[in-house]
Amino acid sequence: MRVQEFSLRRNRPHNGGMRILVVEDNEGIAAGLRANLMQRGYAADVCDTVASAWHALSTEHFDAVLLDLGLPDGDGSEIVRRLRAQVSRPGVAQLPDASTPVLILTARDQVQDRVAGLNLGADDYLVKPFDMDELEARLRAMMRRAVGQASPVIRHGDLEVD
Ligand code: CA
Repeated sequence: MRVQEFSLRRNRPHNGGMRILVVEDNEGIAAGLRANLMQRGYAADVCDTVASAWHALSTEHFDAVLLDLGLPDGDGSEIVRRLRAQVSRPGVAQLPDASTPVLILTARDQVQDRVAGLNLGADDYLVKPFDMDELEARLRAMMRRAVGQASPVIRHGDLEVD
């Protein structure tokens, strides 16, 4: 139930130090995503419940979230709703970070869930099964947009630029 640490410390990423939170309860998909992301130089942490994902977002900074909707303790869209409800103060780094980009991963028949997720503030979605190259392209685009609209302080690893 807790956040599995597969991160930064053990495996230094070279993809700009980007850290991705994978919220997925299907172990096979989660493991595949994590391995693929790490291969591409991202740090990836995996959570398998709404509760553990919220805990992770409340305690650590992530550059993006890959979000499955059907989770054992609730709907993943609850995470988007709560995240976007956070009141952010300009220039003040706080967690959970309301501006964290979220990409929803859904099954083909979950059209309404996807729409609901986007309406709640998710940035993009992909239908399973998805192609890793497309996933990465969407991730990058999403994170670029997020940096463009973020607070005046841009965090990049340990470096902060005003
Ligand atoms: Ca699921």
